[in-house]
Amino acid sequence: MTAGIDWTVQAADFVLDTGRCPVCAEAALDQGHCLACGVDLSGTAGRDVLDASTAAARALRERERLLRAAHLARAAVPHTVRASSAVQPAAQPAASVAVAASAARRRRAQERPCSR
Ligand SMILES: [Zn+2]
Repeated sequence: MTAGIDWTVQAADFVLDTGRCPVCAEAALDQGHCLACGVDLSGTAGRDVLDASTAAARALRERERLLRAAHLARAAVPHTVRASSAVQPAAQPAASVAVAASAARRRRAQERPCSR
């Protein structure tokens, strides 16, 4: 169950895939030109896209590394420790609610004027 990590790996691979057009992803580039969508990435535009892709892949791989480290650290903690340290909702025991209600009834009864 590492869909977030898997996605990161796939995205990094996708942006660095120079074997196909980064715009339509349907055809290989022929000297920087896509025969499917017609984009021209032969000059500065192509170099800029590759630079941006390299930076994006580097960031995605760093994200992957951090996620894997966090996932491994989580796996190293025994399940019982995780369960006991989890935030528990503030629970009010039913008994204390019943005691409070009973005390309120007594107070109201004492405050009532005598009906005779
Ligand atoms: Zn294309």
